[in-house]
Amino acid sequence: MLEQDIERVLFSEEELDKRVSEIAAEINRDYAGKEPMLISVLRGSFVFMADLTRKIEVPCTIDFMSVSSYGKGTTSTGQVQITKDLSDDIEGKDIIVVEDILDSGNTLSYLMELLRARKPASMKLCTLLDKPDRRVKEVHVDYSGFAIPDEFVVGYGLDYAEKYRNLPYIGILKPRVYGGEG
Ligand code: 5GP
Ligand code: MG
Ligand code: MG
Repeated sequence: MLEQDIERVLFSEEELDKRVSEIAAEINRDYAGKEPMLISVLRGSFVFMADLTRKIEVPCTIDFMSVSSYGKGTTSTGQVQITKDLSDDIEGKDIIVVEDILDSGNTLSYLMELLRARKPASMKLCTLLDKPDRRVKEVHVDYSGFAIPDEFVVGYGLDYAEKYRNLPYIGILKPRVYGGEG
């Protein structure tokens, strides 16, 4: 079972639900009278996106894009590739980019620049997790769920080698799973 590969649970289902509600409340307040477009960065943010959007009470639209920067390893390469672009135009829209985790910042600094060039009316970043200790490129975050230490986490959408996304909580993976000690 997947459970055996988890060293410890960092955020339970209940803790995630509570924090996602708080973020949604902030967005509801900030976007009153507006109609934001939420952009989910696949694949890691799909669970967070689904939970977050169901707590958003202002009218909104959604779109998805996919970038890859990782392969199977656990550290960023700095090489970012768009593997699936948005379906809709963002020019003049109030966009909120929804990410699973901000780590080195390589992926998001590239992505935010790319989206900015398409001239949205406004652009904010919402990330569920943030590993500030690992930052290489500066990225401005508007909504952040939890700051976490430098450990590799999985679950609630986040994978290791495409697995563990279906875990309903966020946990720290046993290092032996990815070839480390432990
Ligand atoms: P960055 O470019 O900021 O270094 O990396 C961002 C991406 O790396 C995230 O969107 C995520 O896909 C992946 N990532 C970074 N840290 C972790 C982690 O602890 N666990 C998992 N599963 N993915 C991570
Ligand atoms: Mg991501
Ligand atoms: Mg991944």
